[in-house]
Amino acid sequence: MKYNIILHTTTACNYDCSYCDVIKDNIHLSLENREKILSFIEKNHWSINRFKFFGGEPLLRFPDIKYIISNSNNFIQNNYEIVTNTTILNDEIWEYLETYFSLIFFSIDSENCFDFDKVLPFIKTYNLEYKLYFNLIISPGKEHIAADQFQKLYNAGMRGFNILPVYFTQKWEKEDLTNLSQVMKNILDISLKDKSLRLYGFTENLWEKSSLINESLFINSENKLYYSDFVSTYFWKKIQNELFIENIDVVDLSKFSEDEFHSQQNAMSELENKINSQVQGQNQLHKIMDYFSVYLNKNNGK
Ligand code: SF4
Repeated sequence: MKYNIILHTTTACNYDCSYCDVIKDNIHLSLENREKILSFIEKNHWSINRFKFFGGEPLLRFPDIKYIISNSNNFIQNNYEIVTNTTILNDEIWEYLETYFSLIFFSIDSENCFDFDKVLPFIKTYNLEYKLYFNLIISPGKEHIAADQFQKLYNAGMRGFNILPVYFTQKWEKEDLTNLSQVMKNILDISLKDKSLRLYGFTENLWEKSSLINESLFINSENKLYYSDFVSTYFWKKIQNELFIENIDVVDLSKFSEDEFHSQQNAMSELENKINSQVQGQNQLHKIMDYFSVYLNKNNGK
């Protein structure tokens, strides 16, 4: 089995979004740990599918990203991924995104200052549309802002979107959920007419049961390997020890137990369901996502 790897280059972020649950304790990858990551990749590359840079805001540590890519691309072969809030982008970074990355997620929401006028021309100049998804993060009460952002990007020719209502950390009122359903239906109906529109969560995974469990292994900034990047959030911190696998110096992914990996993923799904029932509106939120997944795929004849 091949695994997707997520690496925390830093836990720091230059934003403070109200819904964010990431533990931002300003821990960065050290020079020593950077070398250990490279040894890990060299030793395990046959078992690695994609390699994702994550945070906090990963581009706060662009020199580390650059260093890792220049010394591991023989093995990863331009199959890097990144999630960024787009605030730290310059020509050098844009060139890296174009050259080495196969998937790019730009997170935009109603709280950060996504700069349409600055970012859109670069996307076209560097020819990134085909591998770019906008994480359209939707907070309760701000559904209309997300709808406007979608429309603005769509009108500007952008076609990759990942619709992400906020899970776990915010309560959804009935009215918010109704508004969310309307926004979702509008976007999905556009996608049924316009086949160039790519909706990441739906068309990639064909959800019938929405979940945030993403089937990846996670390396934190201190080079510890976990069953999930969820351990970087307050909500899941309490089960950090259970999800810890080993320090990466000693990991051999070819000997890694696939059964154990799946059983941990199942255990997390069960815990996710339990947590959902503790936060107002979360179960309904999942039902809406499931409903629209089926709606889209049925109407697409799948
Ligand atoms: S940009 Fe991302 S990591 Fe930073 S505070 Fe917002 S949600 Fe959290």
